[in-house]
Amino acid sequence: MHTGRGVVVVGAGVSGLTTAICLAEAGHRVTVRAAELDLDTTSFAAGAIWGPYLAKDKRIFPWSDETRQILLELTADPATTGVRDGHGLEAARTPVDPPAWMTALPGFRPAAAEELPDGFVVGWWYSAPLVDMPVYLRYLRGRLDATGTPVERRAVDALAEAAEGDEIVVNCTGVYAGKLTGDESLVPTRGQIVVVENPGIERFFCEHDESALPIAYLPHGPSLALCGSIEPGRWDREPNPDVSARLIRMCATIDPRVATAKVLDHRVGIRPYRPTVRLEHERIGRLDVVHNYGHGGAGVTASWGCANAVVRIVAGLSS
Ligand SMILES: Cc1cc2nc3c(=O)[nH]c(=O)nc-3n(C[C@H](O)[C@H](O)[C@H](O)COP(=O)(O)OP(=O)(O)OC[C@H]3O[C@@H](n4cnc5c(N)ncnc54)[C@H](O)[C@@H]3O)c2cc1C
Repeated sequence: MHTGRGVVVVGAGVSGLTTAICLAEAGHRVTVRAAELDLDTTSFAAGAIWGPYLAKDKRIFPWSDETRQILLELTADPATTGVRDGHGLEAARTPVDPPAWMTALPGFRPAAAEELPDGFVVGWWYSAPLVDMPVYLRYLRGRLDATGTPVERRAVDALAEAAEGDEIVVNCTGVYAGKLTGDESLVPTRGQIVVVENPGIERFFCEHDESALPIAYLPHGPSLALCGSIEPGRWDREPNPDVSARLIRMCATIDPRVATAKVLDHRVGIRPYRPTVRLEHERIGRLDVVHNYGHGGAGVTASWGCANAVVRIVAGLSS
């Protein structure tokens, strides 16, 4: 039994799938339309670790907290969900305080000097969910399919084209939202990762540096994600062998086992950077649109909180 007006979600990355699940599980009649499906999206290329790094938008903290709780529930079955409760070290090459959100995480403690890799002067241990995106996106798609929601592979040239009747359109098009909305504040930010066979690493490592080219390695059971380039203004999605070589070389300076690990995959995505997430209702002529895009490097981190915020807006438009 469906409630309220029908909803068309445009986009099938982590934002689109999570939003569609929350809407469908709340009783809405939902259709998903997307040019590229889950495994061909930017979301597929994310590392991914939970961390609310988009700190200019204060709403990111409650959205991320809500998401962390849901991800932790999904750690009960990592083989199905791809989500694990990770523990590891974040470290910086220059003296800096940890972000406030990190100090509140379970297992948080400052690292002793002898625990830091060469070249690092400060660091912190903490626990946070690690998300193996190919597995996780398959899990999300399966959970959405279980609601009976149709998913259509179809590009739309305008948001009005997405609806066929009086449906509400939810815009989860990531960095491509600029083409549909004229939003010039979105900055495409290319990111590349290398996935290797895990040589036995159990703890994650993240370099704490938002200005340069921080490196990270994230264990996902049998595989290890080496992350990730940050290349503003670039749209190309072909893996660059020089970037992969740098990631392997740099991660091997933290754990030498990385140097000889078998390479399984190279993945590229275009992060949708924006000063703030765009999560709001807009009336365009007779069309009701709810935007949910622009999550930069925190789209996985904030996904469930943002999706539930969309459900509340849609409920208001339906009543
Ligand atoms: C290397 C890398 C590492 C990252 N690491 C992390 C991390 O550790 N933690 C974290 O939280 N985040 C991380 N991110 C960021 C995260 O991947 C993004 O914030 C998130 O994937 C954005 O998801 P999305 O669903 O909004 O967009 P996308 O995944 O880009 O999905 C957009 C969807 O919209 C569809 N679409 C677009 N235009 C149209 C159209 N006109 N018609 C129909 N469909 C359309 C696309 O086909 C696609 O289905 C990382 C990103 C990269 C690249």
